[in-house]
Amino acid sequence: MGYRPGRHFLQIPGPTNVPDRILHAIAYPTIDHRSADFADLTNACLEGMKRIFKTTGHVLIFPGSGTGAWESALVNILSAGDKVLAFDGGHFAGLWTRVANNFGVTVDLIPGDWRHGANPHALEAKLRADRGHEIRAVMVVHNETSTCVTTDIAAIRKAIDAAGHPALLMVDTVSSLGSIDYRHDEWGVDVAVAGSQKGLMLPPGMGFNAISAKAIEASRHATLPRSYWRWDEMLDMNRKGFFPYTPSTNLLYGLREAVKLLLEEEGLENVFRRHKRHAEATRRAVRAWGLEIFALNPAEFSSSGTAIVMPDGFNEADLRAVILRHFDMSLGAGLGKLAGKVFRIGHLGSLNDLMLAGTLCGVEMGLELVGVPHRKGGVTEAMAWLTEQAKVSAPQA
Ligand SMILES: *Cc1c(COP(=O)(O)O)cnc(C)c1O
Repeated sequence: MGYRPGRHFLQIPGPTNVPDRILHAIAYPTIDHRSADFADLTNACLEGMKRIFKTTGHVLIFPGSGTGAWESALVNILSAGDKVLAFDGGHFAGLWTRVANNFGVTVDLIPGDWRHGANPHALEAKLRADRGHEIRAVMVVHNETSTCVTTDIAAIRKAIDAAGHPALLMVDTVSSLGSIDYRHDEWGVDVAVAGSQKGLMLPPGMGFNAISAKAIEASRHATLPRSYWRWDEMLDMNRKGFFPYTPSTNLLYGLREAVKLLLEEEGLENVFRRHKRHAEATRRAVRAWGLEIFALNPAEFSSSGTAIVMPDGFNEADLRAVILRHFDMSLGAGLGKLAGKVFRIGHLGSLNDLMLAGTLCGVEMGLELVGVPHRKGGVTEAMAWLTEQAKVSAPQA
């Protein structure tokens, strides 16, 4: 492959663009993970992640991916034969369910059409019917990356409380944390799952759990086999600033930098506003093209990505291949039963207005090249929205 000038546009909904400052931080020489300096690094990362999860409880950092953090959530609080509730909301919800099944956990799947978030009313009814309190936990995906539909986690919490049910609440925040407001303590979540490569703007390679006191208590009695993902050993070593085994030292350098960017320099609430602005600009472009947004409920539109329905007779894989070949941009594929049917624009992580405009230009040109029926002017609509937003928000000095 020849030289490709400029930056590759990585507009999939994770992994996301890694800021140069994070790449530079990762390039520091690796240090001894049992040294005093390392404890400072650990503490900065753990304290920062608590603020990002909005929790005063514990956060755990594992070398691994989001899938590892899913497994960690399950094996620490459940026992073989336990029953859990999950929602058939998309590809990632299905994969997490499969991990639970692989451990002998019985998953009762609440049906869904993939175009709406998890239904709190269906959940409440299921929990009310469970008079013996056999259901140990509820698994929900905050932002279902395959469909670009979000779920109202506060409403899920309310449903569990309304049913007076003791089930633990587990939430996948892999593609929402650091992009869409997530409030671990306020929403009474027991175990949250996250990964490094999406809103946190890091390369892939770390998984996270945020855990409540109730989850820690449950972990003392749960009997699923676990070793690498043990919370007790991790918590014990973390107290002194260390890890039970070699952590991802260089990714932790990157995380310390990401925490600084998100919390201190841009500010989390500004980060969420920026994601909302870009998501709205993208939807305006899609509507102007005359294409269909896959998510049906505007209250559930995702700020981290937008899934767009391909018109009949066109395959999203062809569109993505043409855009990659001509404009060096990667877009998200249709996953699971959506393969061939939807493509996704990732607009999360380190992204500014012009990067988004460039992304939408690439899509509009790609639609033309592939001959997908559409109207021109999506990019113009997005520009108009971004311009309006620039007028009402004073630029940072
Ligand atoms: C990306 C993603 C995952 C999987 O994470 P990996 O790091 O690929 O293991 C899980 N859940 C959601 C919602 C995701 O977007």
